[in-house]
Amino acid sequence: MLNKATHLPLTPSLMPRSSATATAELQGLDQEFRRYYVHRMLPVARAGIGLGFLLAAIVCILDIYLMPAAFVEKAMPVRILATLVPLGAVLGATFVFREHRWLPYMIAAVAFVVGASILLVGGIAMQTGAPVVSWGLIFTTFNVYLVLGLTLRQSIAVGWPIFLVYLSMSLGFNAPMQKVAYGAMFLGFSNLIGTYASYLLERNAREIFDNRRELTRLAHTDVLTGLFNRRMFDQHLRQVWKQARRDGTTVAVVVVDIDHFKLFNDCYGHQIGDDCIKTVADVLVAAVSRPLDMVARYGGEEYVMVLYDPTARFLESFTRELCEKVVRVGIEHKASETAHSVTVSVGAALTESPGSITPEQLIRQADDALYEAKSQGRNRAILYRTEWGQQTTANLAAVLA
Ligand code: GH3
Ligand code: MG
Ligand code: MG
Repeated sequence: MLNKATHLPLTPSLMPRSSATATAELQGLDQEFRRYYVHRMLPVARAGIGLGFLLAAIVCILDIYLMPAAFVEKAMPVRILATLVPLGAVLGATFVFREHRWLPYMIAAVAFVVGASILLVGGIAMQTGAPVVSWGLIFTTFNVYLVLGLTLRQSIAVGWPIFLVYLSMSLGFNAPMQKVAYGAMFLGFSNLIGTYASYLLERNAREIFDNRRELTRLAHTDVLTGLFNRRMFDQHLRQVWKQARRDGTTVAVVVVDIDHFKLFNDCYGHQIGDDCIKTVADVLVAAVSRPLDMVARYGGEEYVMVLYDPTARFLESFTRELCEKVVRVGIEHKASETAHSVTVSVGAALTESPGSITPEQLIRQADDALYEAKSQGRNRAILYRTEWGQQTTANLAAVLA
């Protein structure tokens, strides 16, 4: 959907939010962060998994040449089924399911299986008297914390259980205590350092993620009202335009301007003027609800809306109601020459088919209609009429008269 392409809701919320909404938003944000984190770490994760696969393959070949036959016979199936196959599968998954939210869990599960398989091979080596060194476990541990793109929680959920499996397997295989103690020390410290490094890595990534989001938000929205800004409006109009051409439907542009706002500022001061701009923004946001419709601040005390697929009849009542809704809010405006409260004038233009004119022309038509609403006395909505034709704004009143 088009509103997804913007990565933001098309009507930034100006309403009070319930705590349930805030929680849902936080969860959504966390999921977005995780997607971002996996995406950011994907090339490194692939390299780590690929290297692990390569190492495991080399170890298998070396085993055949260097290890006793009894060991190879028992260890080879474990190495192939619980190391090479899962690593190869998850390497493939990083290409096939790279946007999938389960990918980190698949990677975490494979890391655990690989860790356990290395321990199992260590146990087989002890039973068969083969001189195996389990460096692979340290390699796996560091990959889990630093390379595989797992969050702190996910990596802890893999790294420390591998450590526990090490302890229980060592006891199960009756390994010499001195060997177990050294192994536990190395593996324990690797886990500690890994946990701390993973914490720092995730914290940095979260900071970068938050900053990027904030920058995007600032680039897309107007600070005073929280509405989308003109740039986003232009971008959205172009997108909706293409969609409407495909669907063979209409698009409308609605321009809204507060009447006698200079007088309002002069009378009540700039601060109250700002509050007024925000209140009118609230009214406009509340008026649109369809997913492809959008409200933006066009500048000063002027707003602009895109409506997707409206009929002329709907547009006529919608714009008239906008004027009525603003009057109903009843913001006092003693200096207005139009009414006792703040009013708006509205100009709207509707495409017959988006192929026949350009978005810029439609905006100009809406502007012409706004000019006409102002000339006719303000606090009213005017729809651009095609019979105005090529007349310039200056000639409009004459054409209509
Ligand atoms: P009209 O009815 O013809 O639209 O008259 P107007 O006074 O509303 O229009 P004009 O363009 O003469 O004045 C617009 C005023 O809006 C002038 C400017 O000081 C004020 N303005 C623009 N941006 C802001 C803002 O962000 N905050 C405040 N408080 N005032 C603003
Ligand atoms: Mg104005
Ligand atoms: Mg204006």
